[in-house]
Amino acid sequence: MSILVTGGAGYIGSHTCVELLNHGENIVVIDNFSNSKPHTIDLIKKITGKDFKFYEIDYLDRKSLERVFEENNIESVINFSGYKAVGESLEKPIEYYINNVSGALILLDTMKKYNVKKFVFSSSATVYGDPDIVPIKENSRLGPTTNPYGNTKLFIEQILKDLYKSDNSWDIAILRYFNPVGAHESGLIGEDPRDIPNNLMPYIAKVATQQLKELSIFGNDYDTKDGTGVRDYIHVVDLARGHVLALNKLDKEGKGIFIYNLGTGIGYSVLDMVNVYSKVNNVDIPYKITERRKGDIASCYSDPTKAKEELGFIAEKTLEDMCRDSYNFIKNNK
Ligand code: UDP
Repeated sequence: MSILVTGGAGYIGSHTCVELLNHGENIVVIDNFSNSKPHTIDLIKKITGKDFKFYEIDYLDRKSLERVFEENNIESVINFSGYKAVGESLEKPIEYYINNVSGALILLDTMKKYNVKKFVFSSSATVYGDPDIVPIKENSRLGPTTNPYGNTKLFIEQILKDLYKSDNSWDIAILRYFNPVGAHESGLIGEDPRDIPNNLMPYIAKVATQQLKELSIFGNDYDTKDGTGVRDYIHVVDLARGHVLALNKLDKEGKGIFIYNLGTGIGYSVLDMVNVYSKVNNVDIPYKITERRKGDIASCYSDPTKAKEELGFIAEKTLEDMCRDSYNFIKNNK
């Protein structure tokens, strides 16, 4: 029996493959390398010393996807194949809806055809929109979201709820990620955006390695402790472990649709990030304060209690670990 990991060469997918393999699971991976590199597949094998089957296919290609189900004994699926850049989604909404929503539908329909009904979905804290109250609980108000990327996550969550209502033999875990950062401690895999990064941590990493001149801090007049935006940064390896625990729950208890926040429960400001990154790695992070970024919110961090109580999930890595591992990866991969 194998777990199918779609988008397994991507940032969160690759770290989850490592955790699954280290946990003794058999995996089958698909990826079309639209935002990842073929070499990552070799690196996952190198880190774990384990082998697995890989298919270079697009999950929108139903025929190829069916071949994967024909040729393997797939028991469950984790879907990491979504596009994830907020700004890009505003420019290319159709591409985002096709890839994320149509892709998820084709995947679920194929699973149904082969009677595979265990599904873990990568969702995001973006589904909460601008929260009324922090920390955010799973039953907090959803939306309104501020961009097509967020809408795709919200729509797929709704599709999964409707699917479960129609057939309660499905077992579904929806994992709402807060802000994944850091890299594997080996320095071999991590986040490697092709263009100028949109997100804070990869941008800081490029400034730290002098690939970019300075960081722009988007506003210091928010209602937060130092005026800069506050987020719940979670180490990608902790996040990956969350998937292993979610699958365990579906395997052991099953029968239901479960929703979990995956975060640390701690909010750090942009200035906290700059200061800790600079101190831990002994590097300069020049920055300037600029205008607020459109659509940004002041504060967003999780209440992680439900994942702790029901999955036994606790984020173990500290902000220092996140900053050290991020820098270690970027230094190795300049
Ligand atoms: N941010 C910033 N400069 C950057 C990128 C991000 O000041 O170049 C801030 C942003 O305004 C927010 C925080 O860093 O307060 C996290 O932004 P990111 O895009 O990483 O995550 P998201 O806003 O999607 O949670």
